[in-house]
Amino acid sequence: MPEGPEIRRVADDLQKQLAGRVIDSIRFGLPLLKKWEKCLTGANIIKVETYGKALVTRLDNGFNIYSHNQLYGRWHFCDTGDYPDSRRQLRLAIDCQGKSALLYSASNIAVFNNDEILQHPFLCKLGPDVLHHSTTEENVVERLLSVRYKNRQLGGILTEQSFIAGLGNYLRCEILFYSEIHPEVCSGDLDARKLHKLANAILELPRQSYKTAGITNQLSAANKLIKQGAAFEEARFYVFRRQGLPCYRCGAIIKKQQQAGQAFFYCPYCQSQ
Ligand SMILES: [Zn+2]
Repeated sequence: MPEGPEIRRVADDLQKQLAGRVIDSIRFGLPLLKKWEKCLTGANIIKVETYGKALVTRLDNGFNIYSHNQLYGRWHFCDTGDYPDSRRQLRLAIDCQGKSALLYSASNIAVFNNDEILQHPFLCKLGPDVLHHSTTEENVVERLLSVRYKNRQLGGILTEQSFIAGLGNYLRCEILFYSEIHPEVCSGDLDARKLHKLANAILELPRQSYKTAGITNQLSAANKLIKQGAAFEEARFYVFRRQGLPCYRCGAIIKKQQQAGQAFFYCPYCQSQ
């Protein structure tokens, strides 16, 4: 599933394609949403916001289109009339003054007015967003030490969107490797240095990934690997999907195990405690 940085990049593309334009035509694939087509036609698209892995397209008529790509949703951008041949189900098509944005396969789409969107059952449960500039290292430390989270294993809470929004499995693995923390450790057991290193990684790794289209590895190391002929997928991560390969820091073999229901990748030496 795409994580916060990937969704924010899609939102940037969607904003570039549609923001400031008037909706000439909008079509929903899900029958329940068809009633909105008339109401949204003619509205101006103001901007596209992200909340963790959810995307909110804000319109100037007081309404908002909420969408969550989940596992299969894909946006496609093209000129109006130049729709691709696709076997995927077209769930949303927005045509704005010659530009189009098409959302395929997503089933989690809704329309809300400005008051309702704040009450959305998914959005109102989200923790601070890792990509929002208002989220600081101090906010994250506070959250890590809160009664609700301090005695729970970090491997479990990092992907909970109510703890902090925007992290998924690759970011969880990379953050814990960078912070040299075993996934079964609880934040309440960390000393101050490790706690701050972890809080810093929780914000900085997703932000770097957003800026670099997916690199969480040390940038200079990733670029060197790519120059030496490594594929992007081989160079971008410290540990994610690198089981059986040597750790870039210590040379120990990266391992894979199940952790909180998902594959977890780690260095048994760097993350021994
Ligand atoms: Zn290591």
